Amino acid sequence: MTSLPLISVDPDARGRRPSMPPRHLADLDLSGRQALVTELGEPAFRAKQVSNHYFGRLVRDPERMTDLPAATRERLAGELLPTLLTPVRELACDDGATRKALWRLHDGSLVESVLMGYPDRVTVCISSQAGCGMACPFCATGQAGLTRNLSTAEIVDQAVYLAGVAASGAVAGSPPRLSHVVFMGMGEPLANYSRVVAAIRRLVAPAPEGLGLSQRHITVSTVGLVPAIRRLASEDLSVTLALSLHAPDDELRDELVPVNQRWKVSEVLDAAWDYAATTGRRVSIEYAMIKDVNDQPWRADLLGRLLAGKLAHVNLIPLNPTPGSRWDASPKPVEREFVRRLRDAGVSTTVRDTRGREIDGACGQLAAAGDTDGDSRAATA
Ligand code: SF4
Repeated sequence: MTSLPLISVDPDARGRRPSMPPRHLADLDLSGRQALVTELGEPAFRAKQVSNHYFGRLVRDPERMTDLPAATRERLAGELLPTLLTPVRELACDDGATRKALWRLHDGSLVESVLMGYPDRVTVCISSQAGCGMACPFCATGQAGLTRNLSTAEIVDQAVYLAGVAASGAVAGSPPRLSHVVFMGMGEPLANYSRVVAAIRRLVAPAPEGLGLSQRHITVSTVGLVPAIRRLASEDLSVTLALSLHAPDDELRDELVPVNQRWKVSEVLDAAWDYAATTGRRVSIEYAMIKDVNDQPWRADLLGRLLAGKLAHVNLIPLNPTPGSRWDASPKPVEREFVRRLRDAGVSTTVRDTRGREIDGACGQLAAAGDTDGDSRAATA
């Protein structure tokens, strides 16, 4: 595929009740798929063949599965690869290097993913929930609340689908193979824990069991669900943990990240350091720079003291203002001073690029806003 086909938004979808999708091959590990295929009256090795098409060749059209008997292709594909994501709209910017996809799920829920090409890698940012229940006040997704958790396969299929887009050469100036996945789209991944962990296992398992990505190229972002961070540390996975901190003090963080009212800064950082110690992976501390809210020099100094000497890297994120929001991005001189103070404290710090800002595809902007206009045009910035 070179691009996502464009399909009009179904206006009736908005009134439907959220419900989980049909079972899909990516919900199951290879032995589960073999058991299912056997139940369907086919030899177990067909599971491997279909898996190889889906994960290895990024093919989902039964007509192209020519190693399967023609008589059973449609049926097997129908049972193992039901359509989970219907592309509604694709937006592109950054000269085609960033593409945001809006998907409609089987129950009418809308979610988004972003494909970002760089000279040395291709990254997809995927959603783990339709909406989000964490209610961070500066985030567009958080304003709409949680619709439902995504299934394992709905999560995986975003990456597989966009891996196919990348493989077609559609991302200008980037390698064709998807290499990185970040769970930074809609939702709080650790609030959909078991499905997200199963999705990670599919993404990292070698084909035909999975997509064969490196664990080190997977990043799971969280606002700080402490028990889930600790559980993730025990999964024998070495994915990167990104902690959305956004404030170094409880008073402000209680407001910016409401889950802080349950797990305080000190508790969440303790869990993060334990995660780093167990996995050997440096924790990424995400900090949205919000003008006159969390960007004061004293907060940089406090953050520096909390992180000095820890296995951590700070990612400062220029806030992406959302329509009608009272929050704005910090001015560049303020941002530079914040960076300087952190680095002076010995803390590795970078400022994240603002890929996708033109198409509302950057962090905190994934709100599936496109569902309101019923417009199926592709806008290319
Ligand atoms: S910032 Fe993340 S956790 Fe907070 S509301 Fe938005 S999507 Fe949810």
